[in-house]
This record gives sequence, C-alpha cells and structure tokens, in this order.
Amino acid sequence: HAQQAGAPADAAAPEGAAGQPEDVIEVRHLTKEFVLRGSGVRGEKLLAVDDVSFSVRRGTTLAVVGESGSGKSTVAQMVLNLLPATSGEVLFDGVDITTLDGREQFAFRRRVQPIFQNPYGSLDPSWSIFRSIEEPLRVHDVGDAKSREARVRDLLDKVALPQSSLRRYPNELSGGQRQRVAIARALALQPEVVVCDEAVSALDVLVQGQILTLLNDLQAEMGLTYLFITHDLAVVREIADDVVVMQKGRLVEHADVDQVFASPEQEYTRALLDAIP
Ligand code: ADP
Ligand code: MG
Repeated sequence: HAQQAGAPADAAAPEGAAGQPEDVIEVRHLTKEFVLRGSGVRGEKLLAVDDVSFSVRRGTTLAVVGESGSGKSTVAQMVLNLLPATSGEVLFDGVDITTLDGREQFAFRRRVQPIFQNPYGSLDPSWSIFRSIEEPLRVHDVGDAKSREARVRDLLDKVALPQSSLRRYPNELSGGQRQRVAIARALALQPEVVVCDEAVSALDVLVQGQILTLLNDLQAEMGLTYLFITHDLAVVREIADDVVVMQKGRLVEHADVDQVFASPEQEYTRALLDAIP
C-alpha cells in the first residue's frame, strides 16, 4: 500500500501526461482456454480466464482476489509471459509482451519479477541462500563476484535477515524467513514490477503481517509496482490500493480498496468479505 508505507503515493509514482500515474501493466481482454486431456470428454475446453481487462498504475498495488480456481494464477502466468494467452494482450510499458524479441524478453524478465507461494516459493531447496539470491545477478551478468556478494549482503539487510543466513539452506529457515529470501531474490535486479502469487498465503497471521509491512516499505523505498494475487481478502486491506475480484475466470468487480470494503458492488464480493474471520 503506497500511502500507508509513509511516502505519498505520488512520490513513488511518476505521473503520465494526464497527471495520473502511468499504467505500467495493462491487461486487455485477456482470455485463456485450456484443452483438457484425459477428462473423459475428448478435447473438452475450460475457460480459465474469460475476457479480463485491468491496468496497474506505476508505484501502486493492484490485488487480484477470488476463490481457488477462479483463474488468478493463470492471469499471473500470462502477465509474467510464462504462459501464452488464447486471446487478448498484456502490455508492459505500452508494449505487447508477446512481440518482444529475445533480447527484449531478457530485459522484461529483469524488470518484472515473480514471488510465488511457499513452501520454497521461488527457491531451490538444494541451493544455499547466497546462491539463490546471487543467481539472477549472475544470469544477468551484473558485476564481478565481489560486487555481487556485496549486493547480496545489502539485499539481506533490506529484507532484515542476518548475514549468517547466507550459508544456510531453505529448509533451515522458517516460512517467513524463506519469503524474505524470495523477496531479496526478486529485488536483486531492481525490478519495476513484482508479481506476488499467494506470496504470504502459507504463513501464519503474525508473520504475514511482518512480510506485508516489509513489502509496503520496499515499495515506498524502491517505487515498486505490485500485482498481488491472493485468495485471502483480509490480506488485501494491508497492501492494496486497488482490487479486482475474479469469479470463474471473469472479472466481476474492480474498485479501490476502501470502496471494495465499504460498499462492494457485487453480491459475490460481499459474500467473500463476509467470509473474513
Ligand atoms: P486460482 O489461481 O484462482 O486458484 P488457476 O488460475 O490456478 O486458479 O486455475 C483456474 C482454472 O484453470 C482451474 O479450474 C484450474 O484447474 C485450471 N487450470 C489451471 N492451469 C491449468 C492447466 N495447465 N491445464 C488445465 N487446466 C488448468
Ligand atoms: Mg492460484
């Protein structure tokens, strides 16, 4: 949540021509159809994402919420350019990401980073914490070994992990510490956008709160844009500026977070809110 983190939203969000923060991600009429195999009915199709459109303003957080199976992760995979859309498009900085050539694709990977769900999130359990955080720097050929190590150490400070974590392995850390490592790794290349898919969902409530605070602080500090995917509406209040609600592949509500909590337009959203303990 850009405002809550102590910096005014417009400090983190450069303004576009209209005086509004520019849209860094734009999703237009995005649709994904899966052809189901071995489902009994040969070639049966599932419309996992159905004509979804939204945009994410630079420096803000858009939460995508909905029940399990509503198509949220499929949207995330398409925004990350890891899964081709059946139709529609994703624009990053105004450019359709399916038109990127190899070099541009490489740059896109640097600028748009994922954080996935536990247990290991985006971490390889057989890699030391140092190796996990250093990997994107090596892949993108950033600096020499010494400067990379300095950068990894800075990142550990940023996510408030002790330097002694460097030699540890994911299974030696708590769930919250592992998510801090996943955040450090995602931020290593100073991305513009971070796509968080159920990034805090496996954590208990207290640790969830700590990680959300960290994400909010980092957003204010680095001007990050978050696409924050979660089935948990309680989390949304802590992090989102705007919310879209998905139901069975369709976008059924799109509003700012206060409006969604105060007066949801859809009966479905109200039912989701009522389910918050
Ligand atoms: P969510 O993240 O909201 O739980 P998903 O995007 O994972 O939902 O899934 C949406 C729907 O698409 C679900 O019915 C799921 O079973 C289906 N689905 C997801 N990925 C695949 C796939 N690779 N092949 C077939 N069906 C899939
Ligand atoms: Mg999912």
